[in-house]
Amino acid sequence: MADKITMQDDGKLAVTDNPIIPFIEGDGTGVDIWPAAKLVLDAAAGKYGKTIEWMEVLAGEKAFNETGDWLPQETIDKFDQHLIGIKGPLTTPIGGGFRSLNVAIRQIMDLYVCLRPVRWFTGVPSPVKQPELVDMVIFRENTEDIYAGMEVEAGTPEAKRMIEMLHDAFGWEIREDSGIGVKPISKMGSNRLQRAAIEYAVQRGRKRVHWVHKGNIMKYTEGAFQKWGYDLVREEYSDVAVGWDDCGGDPGDKILVQDAIADIALQQVLTRPKEFEVIGTMNLNGDYLSDALAAQVGGIGIAPGANINYVTGHGVFEATHGTAPKYAGQDKVNPSSVLLSGVMMFEHLGWQDAADDIIAAVEGAIADKVVTYDFARLMEGATEVKCSEFASAVVDRL
Ligand code: NAP
Repeated sequence: MADKITMQDDGKLAVTDNPIIPFIEGDGTGVDIWPAAKLVLDAAAGKYGKTIEWMEVLAGEKAFNETGDWLPQETIDKFDQHLIGIKGPLTTPIGGGFRSLNVAIRQIMDLYVCLRPVRWFTGVPSPVKQPELVDMVIFRENTEDIYAGMEVEAGTPEAKRMIEMLHDAFGWEIREDSGIGVKPISKMGSNRLQRAAIEYAVQRGRKRVHWVHKGNIMKYTEGAFQKWGYDLVREEYSDVAVGWDDCGGDPGDKILVQDAIADIALQQVLTRPKEFEVIGTMNLNGDYLSDALAAQVGGIGIAPGANINYVTGHGVFEATHGTAPKYAGQDKVNPSSVLLSGVMMFEHLGWQDAADDIIAAVEGAIADKVVTYDFARLMEGATEVKCSEFASAVVDRL
């Protein structure tokens, strides 16, 4: 019999060898990449006597066609009850009442960390000279910032009212044909994200944490994020970490916590990638930074991601690319993004051996130049294989 994953009193997950894990196949190329990823995940888990009972839950087009609902409550309930889930890409319904199904899932479940590890796999075509120097993990805040959805459209009565209100209350002069967005950044929201980043650095033996922000311009939102981050280090982590100003840049054997202005950070991750290990940042900066870094190490078909609430134990692991509809059902695209998000899920469950095996097998297939079209078009002498054939090539190397 399969078991539910539960949260223990000590804040750690209890995972048996036979857990139930809900999955969303995903729209578009989800039909190609999900079965390919599942094949590899099952084979790697099986090596260690583990069997996952996959439980399909619906979202996106499949959900809409079967239930008339893009994101059925049952799907949220199943993710909620089983704590951990995985998903393929989802179409954003136009006029469906959602900004994006992905954003909706993150907000409904309060998955406050968007975790994006970025590293290079030997042999993956990259636009930079030394992609091997990139080995960073981005903690992007998922619930606040201008992504909170508090916007009014230019020319509407709402915008007019907002402009008048801001004028009356603060004397702010805002052009009357402006749209307006609100950017909330709270201490609670910042600190829980920053705790997750520091604790990750402690657990994984990482030595540097950067707070990336535009506090020089947005003092009370991004600047506050930076300040709260340093305060947190002093108040809760002084035994393991120290801020730059408190140690003059010499942290001894502690983790060095420093900060970087977002525009400079975007340059330095490119020119001095070795100096960045763990990055904690707000929603918009994190969005730009994680995709820019993904491109630096070979792009969209391979970048994994996860959305996690470390307090409740909930986590949804996901492909970071979209549904790539023009390739849907062609058994063509690269399944690595959703597969490697499964690897992150295994690591999160404590299945490190199986996770390491998959990484080594993916590296082996790429090193042998057995790759899908996206890499094949950039590699000399590659053998181009289908999505499912790439999965088999990985399983053969497990
Ligand atoms: P996309 O689906 O990510 O596709 C853009 C391009 O990225 C593709 O044409 C392809 O490039 C490449 N690509 C995507 N997946 C790939 C894979 N598995 N392997 C190799 N290459 C891959 O972006 P989009 O066309 O802007 O968006 C399509 C739909 O996806 C929209 O409905 C959007 O809302 C949704 N979306 C969902 C998510 C999500 O669920 N997390 C994220 C983003 C977008 P080439 O053509 O150059 O080969």
